[in-house]
Amino acid sequence: MAKLQLRYYPDEVLLQKAKKVTRFDSSVRKLAQDMLDTMYANNGVGLAAPQVGVSKRLMVIDVSGADEPKRPIVFVNPVLVEAEGELIGLEGCLSFPEVFFEVKRAARILVRYQNLSGKELRLEAAGNLLCRAVQHEMDHLDGEVFIDKAVSRLAADLELSKHGFLDADVEELERQLSATGQVPVESSVTMVG
Ligand SMILES: [Zn+2]
Repeated sequence: MAKLQLRYYPDEVLLQKAKKVTRFDSSVRKLAQDMLDTMYANNGVGLAAPQVGVSKRLMVIDVSGADEPKRPIVFVNPVLVEAEGELIGLEGCLSFPEVFFEVKRAARILVRYQNLSGKELRLEAAGNLLCRAVQHEMDHLDGEVFIDKAVSRLAADLELSKHGFLDADVEELERQLSATGQVPVESSVTMVG
């Protein structure tokens, strides 16, 4: 088991479009296994290669519960084929420790991707953690982070400021947020990727 070093926002590798995987060799298999080890060690449900400093289109997800057998899925070169509806829920990100806010995602997706042998596969997910995690990790491959999909920019900015990712006045943001009738996010989390 090899744990990799996580990259934190605003590390520039998180803001780059990752490159397609073209060789399905042992180094890609090792990277995927190390990413899974790193994800499990950090209690995440998903992890994208840029989050460990590798700008490649590879991501891993496991949404199984703590008491269930593990069900890892490795996605190589994933492509969104269909997306519809709207799903709002709390998200966290391993590249933004302790930060949680509501994020808007599609409610149903169809994705095609390759496995570690290069075989083409499809996956459909609707209204669940898997659906959310796939979209979160795919954004990482395009150099996008969940700030861009925040339901409330103000709520996101407050969380980012509280945890040192944004240099803004926390009290002022709290005042503005309460003036809009919104409440700050409780850090009881559903998904971290
Ligand atoms: Zn993330």
